[in-house]
Amino acid sequence: MEHSRYRGRFAPSPTGPLHFGSLVTALASWLEARASNGVWLVRVEDLDPLREPPDATAQILHSLEAHGLLSDEPVCFQSRRHSAYQHAIEQLLKNGKAYRCACSRKQLQANNGRHPAHCRDNLPIPDGTAYAIRFALSDENCHWQDLLLGPQNQRVLAELDDPVIRRKEGFYAYQLAVVVDDINQGITDIVRGSDLLNMTAQQQQVFQALGAEPPRWLHIPVILNEQGQKLSKQNLAPALDDSQPSVNLVQALSSLGQKPPATLAYARVEDVLEWALAHWQRQAIPLTSQQARGITLGTQTHSDY
Ligand code: GLU
Repeated sequence: MEHSRYRGRFAPSPTGPLHFGSLVTALASWLEARASNGVWLVRVEDLDPLREPPDATAQILHSLEAHGLLSDEPVCFQSRRHSAYQHAIEQLLKNGKAYRCACSRKQLQANNGRHPAHCRDNLPIPDGTAYAIRFALSDENCHWQDLLLGPQNQRVLAELDDPVIRRKEGFYAYQLAVVVDDINQGITDIVRGSDLLNMTAQQQQVFQALGAEPPRWLHIPVILNEQGQKLSKQNLAPALDDSQPSVNLVQALSSLGQKPPATLAYARVEDVLEWALAHWQRQAIPLTSQQARGITLGTQTHSDY
């Protein structure tokens, strides 16, 4: 069937430059796509201008290019997709799968996560009151299969977990945009960090509510810094040094449990990627961040000598 050709993607939020942890994710998704003779796409999830330094998108795209990771189709920018998100919201509202909510976080907390204004009943909201739009989850014991982590079991709680899909300030939210675009781009396989694992069952419900089949998922361990925190822009993970892409790629491969020869760090980027693809072993990816960390620290010590 033509439409079942593998289509994967890397979808960074441009809240800062690419760091080592995001390179590991990008590389894993690229290798999975290439190993399946598939298409690999880059999507910039620039939904929140208040959290995006103006040059972050250009830096990310430049870094990916320096590491030989090029989107097979034009890069998709979520900042240009607002009408698609609005359209999806209207459809969800019409089908009773979304609702308006003016509750503050404080009010919800004080009410054990229930909506004091019974927002799910779609009562009218007074004029001039700012409101968010939330997705109406269904109670569910969701079982699904992660291609690396195996069987998953996630509990989804209606009302208590209902994610915001358009914020009070008018910004479209990740939980909606990611699914609308995965559907629009025909993504068959999502490879991403396990920090997003607990979003998956909810996202499957959003796929279904929008009339689409959820893709396959593979969650790789997030990379930790020396303090044991996730490498992220929030805790100031250093930007990748784009002047040594082969060194970075070889380290990323090690974090993914692959066994690149040390001399590969001196090879051209294309050769590193070619080696990586020829030797790619999904089963070797560590299952936990602790395991990945052990490998990374081991490699660093080794190459520092
Ligand atoms: N934009 C999200 C992030 O940078 C990733 C979205 C996804 O892969 O589902 O964390």
